Amino acid sequence: MNFSALSDKLTPLQVEHAARCISRAESIAVITHQNPDGDALGSSLAMRYLLHSLGKKNITNIVPTSFPDFLAWMPGACSILQYEQQPDAAAASLREADLVICTDLAESGRVSALSPVLAERFDAYQSSGDAADSLLIIDHHLSSVCSAHPEQIAYPDCASASELVFRLAWQLVGQDRGFIRVKSEDDQSLVGGDAPFLTPDFATCIYTGMMTDTGNFSYNSCEPEMYSIVAILLTTGINKDAIYDRVFNAYSADRVRLIGYCLYHKMKLFPEYHAALITLNRHEMYRFNAKSGDMEGIVNMPLQIKDIYYSVFMREDKIPPHQLADAGGAKVKAKISFRSQGDRPVNKMAREVFRGGGHMNASGGEHFGTVDEAAQKFIETMPKYLQKE
Ligand code: 5GP
Ligand code: MN
Repeated sequence: MNFSALSDKLTPLQVEHAARCISRAESIAVITHQNPDGDALGSSLAMRYLLHSLGKKNITNIVPTSFPDFLAWMPGACSILQYEQQPDAAAASLREADLVICTDLAESGRVSALSPVLAERFDAYQSSGDAADSLLIIDHHLSSVCSAHPEQIAYPDCASASELVFRLAWQLVGQDRGFIRVKSEDDQSLVGGDAPFLTPDFATCIYTGMMTDTGNFSYNSCEPEMYSIVAILLTTGINKDAIYDRVFNAYSADRVRLIGYCLYHKMKLFPEYHAALITLNRHEMYRFNAKSGDMEGIVNMPLQIKDIYYSVFMREDKIPPHQLADAGGAKVKAKISFRSQGDRPVNKMAREVFRGGGHMNASGGEHFGTVDEAAQKFIETMPKYLQKE
């Protein structure tokens, strides 16, 4: 199989920066965003395997909050340090690491209670000097830090952060950095023998991230090279159908009942705006024994309805200690997911009304207060942000 068609997406400056950061670091913390999804875990665990293959020994994978059961099978997941379970160890690893690598994450505020610790790292990096090689970002979100620092790997047009981790590995191999075997003249011999990073575990993590952030390649998935990467991953012998099965056919009975409840009892449609809204309060989540991850993906379901192009899902959450000062006395907050189809941005509303942001068709935000209040705010601002058509 000839993979020479895969282009170099990352700039030489970015590959150079990543290579320098990694080669200089003894201890490395890899962190991803709160409420980690398949791409968050996929990109950060794949990074772990890449670092191993580069000879790095002292690597800590950190997640700010728990991850869903349907991702617990992922290779390397058992080695993850979860802040909520071991707050002191996680904060110390993040603070003391020579290098912090953020995957699927480019803002210090998206790591829950670890945000102040990550903010210190971002501040030191931005005022640079000695700290220039202490932060590496690999992400597919827009962010102010990446806009100001072209050496960071940030591609909002890329469907997943996992794809970017793959591309970094691929380009590192292709350019002699002195710590990984050099790409041979013959591209074909790269797969397997000459690409020590390309193991089944690495490939499984990358594939899981690419698959989950594209809804099993059903949206955001028209980029031809995406499939060249999938082809390369499959040469390691991974079973993509089994990965699909583990992620999408592994729901608890509680989750399936919760989905039924949301769609039958809680979905409100606004046909004039082609929009759907589902809210879940604490009592409903308790009644259905909803656990972290059980709400994942529910926001996409109303988009299956003909002529519904916008979907919003709101669930009630506790206010974490680091946000209490901002919460203005609110007892709970609404965590909000926005989805849309086609040329209908939802990130503007997420940013301007709900203190959030994200991609054009998939964004998130929050509101300090109940989900009913947040729903009211959404309904009031709908005429300004949604296209009536
Ligand atoms: P989800 O709805 O799956 O939680 O998030 C979808 C996307 O919205 C994420 O990939 C991320 O880009 C963005 N997002 C979610 N929550 C927030 C938030 O609180 N702040 C910002 N800036 N972006 C968010
Ligand atoms: Mn992602």
